[in-house]
Amino acid sequence: MSLPNIVSKEQIQNQYTYIDGVAELIRGKQLRAYTHTFGCQQNEADTERIRGMLHEMGYEMTDSAEDADFILFNTCAVREHAEERAFGNIGALSHLKKRRPDLIIALCGCMAQQDKNVQKIKKSYPQVTLLFGTHALWRFPSLLYRTMTEKKRIFDIGGDENGEIAEGLPVMRENGAKAWLSIMYGCNNFCTYCIVPYVRGRERSRRPEEIESELRDLISAGYKDITLLGQNVNSYGKDLELDIDFADLLRRLNAVEGDFLIRFMTSHPKDAGPRLFDAMADCSKVAKQLHLPFQSGSDEILERMNRRYTAADYRKLITYARGKMPNLTLSSDIIVGFPGETEADFQQTLALVQEIQFDLLFTFLYSKRSGTPAAEYEDNATPAEKQNRFERLLRAQDEIVAKRQDAYQGKCMRLLVDGGARGTEYPYTARTEGNLLVCVRGDDIRIGTFIEAEIEKTSLRCLFARKR
Ligand code: SF4
Repeated sequence: MSLPNIVSKEQIQNQYTYIDGVAELIRGKQLRAYTHTFGCQQNEADTERIRGMLHEMGYEMTDSAEDADFILFNTCAVREHAEERAFGNIGALSHLKKRRPDLIIALCGCMAQQDKNVQKIKKSYPQVTLLFGTHALWRFPSLLYRTMTEKKRIFDIGGDENGEIAEGLPVMRENGAKAWLSIMYGCNNFCTYCIVPYVRGRERSRRPEEIESELRDLISAGYKDITLLGQNVNSYGKDLELDIDFADLLRRLNAVEGDFLIRFMTSHPKDAGPRLFDAMADCSKVAKQLHLPFQSGSDEILERMNRRYTAADYRKLITYARGKMPNLTLSSDIIVGFPGETEADFQQTLALVQEIQFDLLFTFLYSKRSGTPAAEYEDNATPAEKQNRFERLLRAQDEIVAKRQDAYQGKCMRLLVDGGARGTEYPYTARTEGNLLVCVRGDDIRIGTFIEAEIEKTSLRCLFARKR
């Protein structure tokens, strides 16, 4: 495997020159920028980088597209529905652009990396003045500068299609307790339902010293709940010339001084194993929380999905992980109604769910994603049958969660307070180490601090606790 392609320091420096260039162009104008992110945490992390660059240029951030001089949609291509919503949002902005011709409307993210969408935007959405794909994100300052100075529409979906790593660009995170920390980009797995490998390039790992240094900055800035991000974090390091894997990285980050929690997502069962679970168990700052998508309990469907593990492999992993970490909070993703799924296949999924007893499940009805192999697969079940399976799965999981939540009643737990809640009786939200949502009450509660609290009652979606 070849080493990841790193954007050179000179190229990054060049982008800073364009940041200064835009700053010069907008100086004294008090311009505002609005960003909207669709899709996954990786997209949220990307938007934070773009906001960082906008901030350096001198833009004020606004929550209102109507007030903005620069509007950016960071789009998602995982589901057709997300694409339709993005097109709907862009369409709704045409009146603003007519009223204020200087308004810059930009589109980036996974949707913007697909040629069919680029052609559609070129032809039918003249209000979009700047479009750049996932591989061009680090060149945003030069692209924005060109949009402003050349007074024409700029489209850039070029770049290394395997993807690159760009270090040293500014980032603007939300205030609070939580922060994303990307450790790698791209995916090599080509699950047959997924568009990600086609729009985000091949797996490439950031160097451990860069990750550690960013973690140290986050801790100094007061963040307490750090999620390591990658499409498949378990294959971290395979593309580096170093002798390091994800378990080693966890151990290294765990050694950083401070009072914080490390989480990670997303994991792939084919690359997770005892080394990872041993490291999780050994590292006190690594949350005992595992999100391990299994997608289907049927080996035949798993094969059609190109997941490269069996239901028995998955069971074995969970048995080992729970053996090492008895208090592990476990969640998973499931796709219901994948092409070819029979009632018997679905029963195997249901059986696995009943057996493993997850704390949390993210269930999805399969939706066709053009450009992926599964889009060409023959489908046998009717939409009504799929919906029926989906609802049976939800009911089964709700019963499991209700039982599992009961076990928390009266327990004393360490929580991280992460925000204000809507209710007045329990005015704060917090997270357990396993990332379960808790509404909290009590005296002297401050956002961004760890507290000890006793669980007073539970509901399907939330626990309720009083600070001790
Ligand atoms: S592991 Fe599979 S589902 Fe996840 S991003 Fe890669 S291809 Fe998509």
